[in-house]
Amino acid sequence: MSAHTLSGVEVAKAVRSEVTDRVGALRERGRTVGLATVLVGDDAGSQVYVRSKHRAAEAAGMISIDRRLPATSSQAEVEAVISDLNADEQVAGMIVQLPLPNGLDGGRAVELVDPHKDADGLHPFNLGQLVLSRPGPLPATPSGIMRILDYYGVETRGKTAVVVGRSFLVGRPLALMLGTKGVDATVIQAHSRTPDLAGVCRRADILVAAVGRPNMINADFVKPGATVIDAGINRTVDGLVGDVEFEAVSDIAGGITPVPGGVGPMTIATLLANTVALAEAKDN
Ligand code: NAP
Repeated sequence: MSAHTLSGVEVAKAVRSEVTDRVGALRERGRTVGLATVLVGDDAGSQVYVRSKHRAAEAAGMISIDRRLPATSSQAEVEAVISDLNADEQVAGMIVQLPLPNGLDGGRAVELVDPHKDADGLHPFNLGQLVLSRPGPLPATPSGIMRILDYYGVETRGKTAVVVGRSFLVGRPLALMLGTKGVDATVIQAHSRTPDLAGVCRRADILVAAVGRPNMINADFVKPGATVIDAGINRTVDGLVGDVEFEAVSDIAGGITPVPGGVGPMTIATLLANTVALAEAKDN
C-alpha cells in the first residue's frame, strides 16, 4: 500500500485564504486586525519563525507588530512590553515566542497576555476553556492537526487515536481535542514511560507523533491503513526530518503528513485564524 500524502501546505492555503476574506470584511467595516509578536534574544530558529508569522500576517491583510528585546532583558522588561501590547487597541492577537532565553520565565510571560488576545491559545485560561469544551483560541499546532484531519475527511468517531507526546504545546491539548464530544475518538496518550510503545501505537487508527526524535516511529509502530500525523520537526545533518520514518511508514499507512509541508504550515495558518477570530469577537 502506498499512503495518501496529507499535504498541510494545501490545507494551510485554504485556511489562509478564508482568513484573508475575514480580515477584508473587518477592514470594510473600518476595523484593523493586528498581530503582535514578542521575541526576546537572538535565537536563529525563533527569528525564522517570527519572520514567517509576520510575512503570513501581512499577506492576510493584517497589521504586524514586531517587538524585540535583547537576551539580557529582565523579566520586568519583557512583561512591560506584554502589558503595553495588552493595552494597544490595534493588537487583536499576540504571541510570545517561546522558549525565552535562560533566566526568564516563559510561563509567567504567557500568563500575562490578555486571554482575549492569546493568538497561541496557550494562556491557562484558554487551556481551561479547552478542558471545559468552551469556545476560545486553541493551541495552534494541535488545532492545525485537527484541521488536517477534517480537510481530508479522516473519520475520528469511534476510532482509536494514539498521541505520542504529552507536552502542553502539542500532545496534551491534541488528546483533549480528539476526545471531545463530536470528534469522539478514543484517545491513548503515550509518552516516554509508556511500555511497549510500538504495540500501543499499532492499535491506532490515527497515530500522531509529537516527540522530537528523528524517525522514531517506524513501520513496526503502524497498523496497516492508519492515518499518521507527524508533528516532529528535527534538524539533522540530513536536513529537516519528522518523528516518523516517512518512506517505510508510507508503505503501510493509509495517509501520512510529510515533513516539511505537513503540520508545520498549519501552525501559522491556525495562528492567523485565531487572530481574526479574536478580532471578530472584539468587534461583536
Ligand atoms: P516536548 O515538550 O519535548 O515533548 C516531547 C514529548 O515526547 C514528551 O511528552 C515526552 O515524554 C515524549 N517523548 C520523548 N521521548 C520519547 C520516547 N522515546 N518515547 C515516547 N515518548 C517520548 O516537545 P513538543 O514541544 O511537544 O514538540 C514535539 C515535536 O513537535 C518537536 O519535534 C517539535 O519541534 C515539534 N513541534 C512542531 C510544531 C509545528 O509547528 N509543526 C510546533 C510545536 C512543536 P515525557 O513527557 O514522558 O518526557
